[in-house]
Amino acid sequence: MAIATINPATGETVRTFDELSEADVQRKIGIAYERWLTYRATGFEERAELMHATADLFEKEADFAAQLMTTEMGKTLAAARGEALKCAHGLRYYADHAAEFLADEPLADPSAVGAKRALGRYQPLGPVLAVMPWNFPMWQVMRFAAPALMAGNVGLLKHASNVPQCALYLEDVFRRGGFPEGCFQTLLISARRVEPVLRDPRVVAATLTGSEPAGRSVAAICGDEIKHTVLELGGSDPFVVMPSADLERAVATAVEARVQNNGQSCIAAKRFIVHSDVYDAFTEAFVSRMRGLKVGDPFEEATDVGPLATEQGRAGVEEVVDEAVSAGATVLCGGRRPDGPGWFYPPTVITGITRDMRIFSEEVFGPVASLYRVADVEQALEIANATGFGLGSNAWTDDPAEQERFIDGLDAGQVFINGKTVSYPELPFGGIKRSGYGRELSAHGIREFCNLKTVWVG
Ligand code: NDP
Repeated sequence: MAIATINPATGETVRTFDELSEADVQRKIGIAYERWLTYRATGFEERAELMHATADLFEKEADFAAQLMTTEMGKTLAAARGEALKCAHGLRYYADHAAEFLADEPLADPSAVGAKRALGRYQPLGPVLAVMPWNFPMWQVMRFAAPALMAGNVGLLKHASNVPQCALYLEDVFRRGGFPEGCFQTLLISARRVEPVLRDPRVVAATLTGSEPAGRSVAAICGDEIKHTVLELGGSDPFVVMPSADLERAVATAVEARVQNNGQSCIAAKRFIVHSDVYDAFTEAFVSRMRGLKVGDPFEEATDVGPLATEQGRAGVEEVVDEAVSAGATVLCGGRRPDGPGWFYPPTVITGITRDMRIFSEEVFGPVASLYRVADVEQALEIANATGFGLGSNAWTDDPAEQERFIDGLDAGQVFINGKTVSYPELPFGGIKRSGYGRELSAHGIREFCNLKTVWVG
């Protein structure tokens, strides 16, 4: 894929970028490694100051950053502005908590291991490569970069080829925040040039957010090199609604959860599994709200849903919907792309899905909701778990026993009861099964790229 800004609302190529030469990639890795040798010795206070200065810039420049995101990948301007501010929050969170998260862990009774003193100490690993996607072009990067830099690592970013201006802005904002040269650098390279970077001995680990094939490739190379990886891949999150739920809130949240980011979020609720007692009421209200959303120019304030980020992405959504319909599924709203330029796709609700349809088992990366009717909690859990993914999950019920059953029974990295899955810096984020492994955010996220060194003093 060429490295370019292509406005998804119009299909127009706004700007193209040359890939870095091999010599430039080598130079940047060298700078990262040399920088790490000194940066690793800086203290938390010093790093925190730079984090807060970078957060100040995100807050001051939120409008500018939002314009870049909306132009390159089509999320609404309001959502993009929110993302820039969330970046500032994430940076401040790690600035304020890294020292506590990475404090020594002394053994209460060192004599049990024959020592005068015994402890675990977290130390940085070195330059880490982040392979990142376009859907949250700044926040996804920040949730890697904030903990990594606070831990004393340095970052190299291979961003998605359709968000080069966001990628360059991120390199620039860390530099202007005062981080020394080499702490955070963008490599404008295509996916096929990732392998030599991963195999470079100066690069010690990698994190990837994106599709399964990309994750598989990076994990295989890093496995071969014995390098640690964190993978955050796709999801097909269930959203269960039981009769005791507040139906109005459940419907409003279901719509938000499905169409957020124009339907392109790994933690978007994608499969709506509704108890038969409330199925008809839920469906009527849900379809009516989905149909009422305004699709259009993401720069306009009144727009709820902008275009999909890429032409290929829209073709993928269309294909899976069309295939389901020709196999007998029913479209309750949407289901047909509008005429005209841009990669728009309408909010869509589908029912009558059977297990042999791709829409049952694949992630649909667009504003398409699948509806399922179930008789009880156990059937809801069976359908919810009948997927290769296991990222987020949602269940709506006011019954405490049912809440516990869903908390224990949903096969996912995260469960949100009476809410929608959200990434908070304060909570661990990650998946099981084909959604990946490792955790981002919270204390767990910052420890992923640390050496937990066992210290024994006799
Ligand atoms: P990709 O996985 O292709 O892209 C994500 C990142 O990985 C990009 O930086 C991409 O670079 C890079 N990449 C792609 N292939 C490789 C590879 N073999 N080795 C190293 N890096 C690689 O996602 P797409 O944009 O193609 O989206 C396809 C599907 O992936 C979506 O429909 C969705 O299902 C899922 N996805 C999930 C996301 C999530 O948040 N979990 C985010 C994005 C996508 P380049 O852009 O240069 O190809």
